[in-house]
Amino acid sequence: MILVGLTGGIGSGKSTVSDLLRQRGAIVVDADAITREVQLPGSPVLVELAEAFGDHVIAADGTLDRAAVANVVFGDPEALKRLNAIVHPAVGRLMNDRILEQRATKNVVILDIPLLTENPREGLQGRIVVDVPVETQVERLVSFRGFTEDDARARIARQATRDERLAGADFVIDNSGAPADLAEQIDRLWTWLNELPQLPADYEPILPTQRPPKT
Ligand code: ADP
Repeated sequence: MILVGLTGGIGSGKSTVSDLLRQRGAIVVDADAITREVQLPGSPVLVELAEAFGDHVIAADGTLDRAAVANVVFGDPEALKRLNAIVHPAVGRLMNDRILEQRATKNVVILDIPLLTENPREGLQGRIVVDVPVETQVERLVSFRGFTEDDARARIARQATRDERLAGADFVIDNSGAPADLAEQIDRLWTWLNELPQLPADYEPILPTQRPPKT
């Protein structure tokens, strides 16, 4: 297995790039999809969330009432910490299970993690950053994803800056051009990925929570 991370600011084109890599044969482990998966009706995470915040965070159909959760944690850093302490470990475990399923293969495994810069992860062989100017992020979020300009700017402001992301990049995809401009970059990226050394078949993923303390 070859194991790398993929990140980018909201609206940068990270999902677009991960789809193109999937088409080449990469196995994409999608942190957002896994977050939704651990919060499916009946999951232990939902039970814990109801215990922590009250039954009203679960809708009548058993799904998580995201708006209710957002209301609880809005402006309450302690509540946000409790929320993350419930959800993050479950996401980390499922993500690691997905990695373990792949470790004896020769596959290129891409961890698609929107907040990889904010929550760094040890044990990756490289970090791919999808890069666009902030103004392009805003334009695409407004044009294609239904954001108001203010919402788009507020979401972007809460994430790492463009420079912070680029500082941790081993391979940068410039998605400021037309979608067609990605093809040649994906070709080069796919070559680069496949030239990385194979990890040992008994590779042990490091849970983000097991990260050694910074010295
Ligand atoms: P992310 O996953 O980083 O939030 P997406 O891949 O969803 O971003 O891209 C944001 C929006 O911009 C989507 O609607 C996508 O189709 C569109 N998009 C992505 N790349 C380009 C591009 N090079 N030119 C124009 N639109 C793009």
